[in-house]
Parts: sequence; structure tokens; C-alpha cells
Amino acid sequence: MQTKNRGFFSWVMTALIIILLVSVISDFFDKTIETDYSSLVKCINGGMVSQLYIDDTTATAIVGEERIRCEIPSKEVLRQDVGDKILEMIDSGALQYGIAPKRVSWIDYAMPITSLLLMGFFLFILIQQNSGKGAGNFARSRAKLETNDGRKVKFSDVAGADEEKEELSELVDFLKNPQKFIALGARIPKGVLMVGSPGTGKTLLARAVAGEAGVPFFSVSGSDFVELYVGVGASRVRDMFAQAKKSRPCIIFIDEIDVVGRQRGAGMGGGHDEREQTLNQLLVEMDGFDKNEGIIIMAATNRPDILDPALLRPGRFDRQIVVDRPDVKGREAILKVHARNKNLAKDVDLEKVAKATVGYTGADLENVLNEAAIFAARRNKTEIDQRDIDDANIKVMMGPEKASQVVTEREKKLTAFHEAGHAVLTKLVSKTETVQQVSIIPRGRAGGYTMHLPDEDTWYRGKKDMLRDIIILLGGRVAEELVMEDISTGASSDLKRATKIAHEMVAKYGMSDAMGPICYDSSDEVFLGRDYGHSKQYSETTASQIDKEVESIINGQYKEAKSLLTENIGRLNSVANALLEKEVIDGAEFLKYFNQEGEKENETSK
Ligand code: ADP
Ligand code: ZN
Repeated sequence: MQTKNRGFFSWVMTALIIILLVSVISDFFDKTIETDYSSLVKCINGGMVSQLYIDDTTATAIVGEERIRCEIPSKEVLRQDVGDKILEMIDSGALQYGIAPKRVSWIDYAMPITSLLLMGFFLFILIQQNSGKGAGNFARSRAKLETNDGRKVKFSDVAGADEEKEELSELVDFLKNPQKFIALGARIPKGVLMVGSPGTGKTLLARAVAGEAGVPFFSVSGSDFVELYVGVGASRVRDMFAQAKKSRPCIIFIDEIDVVGRQRGAGMGGGHDEREQTLNQLLVEMDGFDKNEGIIIMAATNRPDILDPALLRPGRFDRQIVVDRPDVKGREAILKVHARNKNLAKDVDLEKVAKATVGYTGADLENVLNEAAIFAARRNKTEIDQRDIDDANIKVMMGPEKASQVVTEREKKLTAFHEAGHAVLTKLVSKTETVQQVSIIPRGRAGGYTMHLPDEDTWYRGKKDMLRDIIILLGGRVAEELVMEDISTGASSDLKRATKIAHEMVAKYGMSDAMGPICYDSSDEVFLGRDYGHSKQYSETTASQIDKEVESIINGQYKEAKSLLTENIGRLNSVANALLEKEVIDGAEFLKYFNQEGEKENETSK
């Protein structure tokens, strides 16, 4: 039986024994004194009796602290002797008559308490059995142990994700041979946080680390810790670590860690004691073992931003691995992995499927092939052909959980030109920044991204830099407008940032000629959004002047961006087409397309 239950059981036993003892002892002190009839009469007449009970042959009475009993000649005799006195005392409330005169003893409580406890105990067992866990498993961790026998997941089962695998292979070496690392004093992370959307293969990667290293894999989900009963989550965590310590080296995998790992005190409507207890226990356990004990905790989340900072401190989850949605090559590789055990017809073109599935995760792709197999079976075919796959793709795309991430051809093109617009303008106007990577694979809420880094650290941005930043930010919208003859909502965060910069230039840094070198915003917080009107220290007229200046800066830079991109429309097309083809391009590739080297078809549908 599990410790927690053993505790409960012995608690019940102890309670029963105490109750028994108390009742025996109180019975012992509750002795009745046998007296004779004349003493009883004296006591009654002396008004010393507080309770009196009479049956046919005996009378029992409480006199002071004592209980006395005696034989009576008969009820008639008693009535004649002391009847009046008894009536008088009853009237005055000094005597209770007719109640078995017994001092209230513990035994009076013992019976109901015992039965209540027994009932509670049986109820307890019943609840557990109904929840299907058996009496012994209530607080036991639900960590599932996956042993090595059976099919091991290997890195070769994880397609694409080369960088992630590379990073994780260090953990594999450590788990295989911890002594070697310890002897050299190497520091191996205790906790690795895998960050990425659901279905991107985080669990698969963690499992592959265990498979490659040949160590046990304990997996548990954050939601398993959140129970109705306070304290259960914390004891599950304790138990999970106890279990893991017995089979180290090993991996503990916590899926959905954000469910327990949410910032403390951030819950709606006050504290979530249960969750916080669980989180605290997790932190305690993580601190409680040495980094070289051979236990590595891997956790997965889609929301690293809401995690309690304590979880991310050194010695805890101090290493993060971002697992992105796969690019076109990755998608093709994943499709190939899942096609291994499927009968594909010759006409199937997985490369084509990969191209048509921007934004899909590994799980989505697996789903496509699975649905295709179902289509083929329903159509009484022995092989899965391209039509099955296309139909399956539509089904998965329309699926309820995918709906928000569907990237249509049009959106893909819009994103490609948007990002190309940022990138080309970065190259054209920026003196200090180079384009590192451009991507049209959705990431979080953004359709794509352009990463540019300063060549050298610059602490200081001048007016010209800020104006250039605004041009680059507006480039996405301008490119959409130029090529697609339509604009999307995708640029709204760009516009927000551009406006913010322009506003700072005017109101904070005094960079506008019309407004003069005056800082109108003394507070730094003003631009964080919340207290906008609150800390305004200037008149309405000034405010509208500021607005006008901001507007003129934005409009001026918009025109500038537009004329630059119009002049360089060839470059824009070249980069955008490369993005449509490859989805992600790095800095060197970008330069190549920017310079339109080796361009075959320079034409895009305008
Ligand atoms: P996550 O833990 O990120 O939500 P999973 O690891 O559970 O995602 O992935 C779900 C499934 O999707 C896997 O079991 C696997 O079949 C498939 N999958 C995801 N990524 C890959 C990949 N890189 N290679 C092969 N299959 C993948
Ligand atoms: Zn943008």
C-alpha cells in the first residue's frame, strides 16, 4: 500500500484505539456507589440530588459528583417519604427526574464518532475504486513509466529537427555515461524546457532522447497534478521523483508544464493553493537532487511566457529548446517517416504535399497520411494515391482544431511579399543592420518574420536611425499594397511599433522641428500603453500638435518606403518568390535573391 494511504489507515486505527481507551477509563471513573435507602432519602431531603431515576426496585441518583444506587422498598413508599420534596425540586428546576442519571461520558460520543469514521473510510475507498485507480493509488504519481523493451523511439524517428537533435544529443551522451561527465566536472542541465506549438514533436524528441540513451522514460502531464483534493498534486510530484530516483539514470517528461507552472499568485480570483503547492513541491524536488544524479527533467509548453520565473532559474529549467513548425524540407522528411509503414501509389508526390502544407506540424502531417489511408480503404484500394492524400489534406485543414492556422495560397503570398518588403528595405536603408533570416512559417500569432540584427551593439539611436526603423516597419504593408493591391491585418503590430517610435521622437526626444526640443512625456511608463492619458502633462492643443507631427512622420516615411520598393520591385519579387519556394531563407541566400543572381523568371503575377 502506498505511504499516503498507510498513513490514513493507521490514523483511523489510532483514533479507534483512543476512543476505546477513553471510554474504558471514563467508565472506570464513573463508578456507581451502592448505598441504602435511608441515605437516598437523606440526600433527597437535603436537596443534594440533581438527577433521579426510579424503576420498580431500584433508584439511581446523581449526588454532587457521585452516582449512587440503592434498592427501594417500592415506588409507593418512596412517594410517601419524599414525594413532595421531589415535586418541589422538579418545579424549581433543581432536579431532573426520569432520566437515567449518568454523567455524560466519552462513550456517548464514541459510538457516533466511530460510525462516522467508518462510514468516511468506506466512502473513501469507494471513491477511489470508482475513479478506477484502486485503493492504493490515490496519491500515487500518474507518471507512466515507459521501459526500454518494446519499440524504442530513436532520433531517426524524428524527421527534420536537426538542430534540436543536435542540442539534445549532449543529454544522450550524459545519460549513457554520467561518470565520464562527472569526472570531468562538466555541468549538465537538470531541466530542459521544450517550447513549441502542440504537435511539433516535443514529446517525440524527449522520448527519442530516452530511446537513444536506453534509459527509462517517465511521462506525466501537468494536468495530472491538478486534482480536486488539496495536497494530492504535491504528493504526486513527490512520488514521481521518488520513483524516478529508483531507476536513474532516467528522464522525467512533464507535458503541459504551464498547467502547474503558471506564475504564482496570477490566477484569477485569488490564489490557487493546490496548484501553487504542486509547483512549490516541484521546485523543492528539483533543488533536492544534485545535477549529476542522472535524472534529467524535460518539460514541454507552448507558453513559456506565463511560467513562474522561479521555474526558469539556474538549476531548474535553465535550458530552452525551441521546437518550430517544420519548413518545407522538414515537412517532406516527416511525411517520409510516416509513409514508411504505408502503401503509397507511384503517383504520390510527397514533395508536392509538403509544399501544400505550410504551417502544419508533425502531428498534422501524420494525421494527413492517416486520413489518406482511411480514404483509400473506404475506396477499396490497396494503395494510397495522390487523390486520397489531397482529400485528406482538405479534411485536416478544415478540421476544427486546425482552422485558425490554415494558410491559404493567397495568405502565403501575402506573407511572402510582406516579409520581403521588410527585408529588402532593411538592406536598402539600414546602415547598421543585416538581414539574418526571413521566414513565412507562422510563428505564434505572426504570419512570418524577418530577423535582422545590428552589426555592432548600438546603445544609441539617432533620429536618422529611428526614421529608418519606421521605413522598415512600414515596408511590410507597403509591399502588400504594391503587389497584392490589397492590404491585410497582418501589419497591425508593425504599424503600432512605427507609430510608437514616431511618437517618441516627437514627444520624448524632441526630434521634431515643429515641436522643438521639448520632452513632453516625463514618464517612461507612458508608452507601455496602460496609463496613456494619465501622465499627460500638456494641453489638448499640444496633444493635437503632437498627433499631427506623428502623422506627418509616418506619412512621409510611408511615401519613402513606397518609392524605394517601387524602384526595387525586381528585388522585392525575387525575394518574395524565393520565400514562396523555400519558406525560410538565411542571410546569405537573402543577399543572393536581393541581388537577383541567377534569376530565371523575374515575373510574378502582379
Ligand atoms: P508535442 O509533444 O509537441 O505536442 P508530439 O511529440 O506528441 O507533439 O507529436 C505528435 C505526433 O506527431 C508524434 O507522435 C509524431 O507521430 C508526429 N510528429 C511530430 N513531429 C514529428 C517529427 N519531427 N518527425 C516525425 N513525426 C513527428
Ligand atoms: Zn511585418
